[in-house]
Amino acid sequence: MSINTSRRGFIKGAGFFAALTGAAGGVVSARAVPSGSASNAGAWIDADVVVSGGGPAGVCAAVSAARMGAKTVLVERFGCLGGNLTLGHVSPILGKVSPGTMADEVRRLLNERHLGAQKVMTRNGPEEHIDHEEAKGILAKLCADAGVSVLLCASVVDAVMDGNRVVGLVVDTPKGLRRISAKAFVDATGDGRVAASAGAEFKIGRDADGATQPSSLEFVVDGVDERVGITAWGGTDPVKLPSGEEYRALCKRMNAAGELPENVTIVRLHRTFYPGERSVNATQVNGVDALDPAAIGKADAELRRQIDMCVAFLRKHVPGYENCRVKSTADTLGVRETRRVMGDAMVVDGDLLEGRKYADAVVHDAWFLIDIHNPKGGGQAEGHSHPAKPYDIRYGAFLPKGVEGLLTAGRCISGTHRAHASYRVMTPCMAMGEAVGVAAALAAKSGRTPREVAAGEVRSELVKRGVFLG
Ligand SMILES: Cc1cc2nc3c(=O)[nH]c(=O)nc-3n(C[C@H](O)[C@H](O)[C@H](O)COP(=O)(O)OP(=O)(O)OC[C@H]3O[C@@H](n4cnc5c(N)ncnc54)[C@H](O)[C@@H]3O)c2cc1C
Repeated sequence: MSINTSRRGFIKGAGFFAALTGAAGGVVSARAVPSGSASNAGAWIDADVVVSGGGPAGVCAAVSAARMGAKTVLVERFGCLGGNLTLGHVSPILGKVSPGTMADEVRRLLNERHLGAQKVMTRNGPEEHIDHEEAKGILAKLCADAGVSVLLCASVVDAVMDGNRVVGLVVDTPKGLRRISAKAFVDATGDGRVAASAGAEFKIGRDADGATQPSSLEFVVDGVDERVGITAWGGTDPVKLPSGEEYRALCKRMNAAGELPENVTIVRLHRTFYPGERSVNATQVNGVDALDPAAIGKADAELRRQIDMCVAFLRKHVPGYENCRVKSTADTLGVRETRRVMGDAMVVDGDLLEGRKYADAVVHDAWFLIDIHNPKGGGQAEGHSHPAKPYDIRYGAFLPKGVEGLLTAGRCISGTHRAHASYRVMTPCMAMGEAVGVAAALAAKSGRTPREVAAGEVRSELVKRGVFLG
């Protein structure tokens, strides 16, 4: 077996870093991170399936594989599970897929203690709230009940290769670098970190200029007077203030007056399970390279300044919010878009616009608007979001081209920039995770690579579980 050590490439300098983070819109294929000495060490853990990234996609992938009887390890760099669903403070859960997937199960678990909670109806359906603190425990229990071994505070730093096949991962742990071996791997890191390390081809941003959707820090306020405090799902919500002015018009006016940050033209106010609370999605920085720690640090400082500004705006201008205060903020930068790992198939714009169905689909009737937060200013990139018809995601979209032993799930799968703006929301990501978990387990159990597993086999297993695939 040849072990791919890329430390030499890693220290080559600026040119290498440019390749790593992606030239404007271009196709990039680079061994991106160093393997370190751990790649040569004996395996610390030997599993059937290893899932990298414990966000909505990764948790569902791991639980799904474990339920197939695979010895499954889930590797997460932070100290709890959930990704954007917990640490990112993202709420509500958006998007749809066909009935019977793990997305339904996770939503049910998140709602279990709040059956009487008031739900806001939007043009996207009822808002599904998340209690970010409760969710941490719910996801941990879901994994434990399924028999998933969860590694926290463990960052994947490299893929160990045998030719073009991923056979292991180098993981940075508090005890140092360790190697994990498995029969099949899932990259659910959002950033396509494992795939990039394995040399897979990826794209970042728009084809024309490589620009990506902005990053944000979400936060929760409490102290809202429910007798008058509005909710607002976005720039298309016509909700009015007691004065009769539309709230979205007020936001635009205050943005122009400099009382809201430069690119913030709407302060979204989502209800939570708890009266007097709102989940706020507003802050925005453009042009952040969300794969660069220095850029992330700079963005974090700017976004925390923006949180203060948004709260001052709410207190001064929005009735019912006079005494609101920040209850909690995201623990990590909210990253909408980084690598999209190119696969055997791709989710393309036409799939969404025409609602295409495929015989080799493993996610059926995925749906959300084409919601491209403007990379170059405020609001939407194309003036407004565009409708999409429920579409299928083919198995090949999860198989990185030219790399064996690896599947992707979640926001890093193979798709166009515009398609990504739809399938990146949490409901489709969870369904992707479930499907890919089944595929990884089937591969591991039968000694095949994920590519050798037929979409039909994955579909049969999903249907047995009660997933509707058309
Ligand atoms: C500001 C913002 C607002 C959004 N609003 C909504 C919304 O209202 N509703 C909605 O449904 N969706 C929303 N989204 C989109 C949605 O939250 C994400 O696209 C979705 O969470 C993607 O799921 P994922 O599992 O692919 O990735 P993530 O949720 O990003 O999870 C990836 C996980 O991988 C881990 N990881 C990364 N690298 C490594 C590594 N090297 N080693 C180990 N672990 C690693 C991360 O720590 C994280 O836990 C929003 C996104 C953002 C940023």
